[in-house]
Amino acid sequence: MNTSYRCWAEVDLDALRGNLAWIRHRVGPKVKILTVVKADAYGHGLKQIAALLMQSGTDIFGVANLAEASAIRRVGKGWPVLMLGALLPDEMETAVKDHVRATISSLDEATALSRVATRLQKIASVHVKVDTGMGRLGARPKDALELIRSTAQLPGLAIDGLYTHYASAEDDAAFSKAQAEGFEGVINAVTKAGIQIPLIHANNSAALLHQPETTFNLVRPGLLVYGILPEGQRADVAALRKFFHPALSWKCRVGFVKEIRKGDSLSYGRTFVAPRKMKVATLTAGYGDGYLRAGSNRAEVLIQGRRCKVLGRVTMDQTLVDVTKLDNVAAGEEAVLIGSQHGETISAAELAQWCGTIPWEILTAITYRVPRLYRGSQAS
Ligand SMILES: *Cc1c(COP(=O)(O)O)cnc(C)c1O
Repeated sequence: MNTSYRCWAEVDLDALRGNLAWIRHRVGPKVKILTVVKADAYGHGLKQIAALLMQSGTDIFGVANLAEASAIRRVGKGWPVLMLGALLPDEMETAVKDHVRATISSLDEATALSRVATRLQKIASVHVKVDTGMGRLGARPKDALELIRSTAQLPGLAIDGLYTHYASAEDDAAFSKAQAEGFEGVINAVTKAGIQIPLIHANNSAALLHQPETTFNLVRPGLLVYGILPEGQRADVAALRKFFHPALSWKCRVGFVKEIRKGDSLSYGRTFVAPRKMKVATLTAGYGDGYLRAGSNRAEVLIQGRRCKVLGRVTMDQTLVDVTKLDNVAAGEEAVLIGSQHGETISAAELAQWCGTIPWEILTAITYRVPRLYRGSQAS
C-alpha cells in the first residue's frame, strides 16, 4: 500500500467477510449472528466494519455504549442493536428513543426503563441477563425466573432475549459446563412457565469453538469476526486457524538508523545496554499510537521480512529495534508491528504475549492517531 503515513493500520475487508462466512457455516442458517463491534469494532473502525458486516450477513450488533449504537444507525437502519453493558439511569431515554435493546439484570433496572418507555409511549425491547459465573451483570439463576415474570408484566417493555456470558470458555471446560447447566435450568423454568422469549444466547468466540451445545438460536462472536482465535488451554484450535484471516495489520516506518558501540545505553531508564557493537533503527511508532510500553525489551517487529527485537523502553512516539543483521536498512522503510511481510508473520496474539496481555487489549489499545486504511472489495 502506497502511503506517506508514519504509523497506520490496514484492514482487509475480504478477510472479515470470510471470517463471518465461516461463523455462518459453523452455526448454520437458522442461528442468528450478533457481531460484537464495541470499542470501535475492536480497533478496526466501527463505521467501515458495521457497513461491511451489514452487507455480509450479520443479524444484530452488540455495543458497549449509546454512541456506538448511534454510529451503527448512521451507517444503516434496521439492524437491531443490543447494549451489552448496563444502561445508566440517565441513558435510558436516549436508548428507548433510539431503539437500543437494553440488558436487564434486576427488577429495579426493568422498572426504571418501563417508566421511561411508558412516558415516551414506546415499547423498549430488552434482553434479560443471567449471571452464571461471570460476575459482571445479570440476575442469579435462582432469581432469574422471577425477574423474567415481573419484567414481562411491566408496561412498555418486551422481552426479546435471554442470555448469559462465559467467564473462561477457552480455558475451563468444567466451569463452562456448570455455567451452561445454570443457564439451561433457567431456560427450562421459563419454558415451563409458558413464557416465550425469542432469542436465547450464550456463546462468545471461545464458546462458539468449544461449547457448540450452547449455540441456542444466537451467537455473539467478537474476536473471531476479526480473524483471531481465542487461544487457551482447552482443545487445540490450531486446526481452525486456516479458516480465519486476521483483518488488521499494523505498520510504521524506519525513521533513523545508526550504529552503537558496546556499552551504549538506549532509551529512557537505560534498561538496555549494548553487549556489543550493534545497528539500531528508530521506528515511527510508540505507546502514543497504542504500541504498549509493556513490550519494551521483549516485542519484535518485522523489517525486510526479518524479526527485529525492541531494544530499551518503548517511548510515546518512537521505538528502537535491533537491525544489526539487516543490510541496507534505510529511513522510510516499512516496519510491521502486526501482520505479515515476505512470508514472516507477527500475530496480535504473539504481540499480546510479549506485552503480558491478550489480543483484545492489543487491538483496542491502538489509538486515534493511527489511521485505518481499508482494502478489499467493499473499501470506500
Ligand atoms: C465482548 C463480548 C462478547 C464478544 O467476546 P469475544 O470473546 O470477543 O468473542 C460477547 N458477549 C459479551 C456480553 C461481550 O461483552
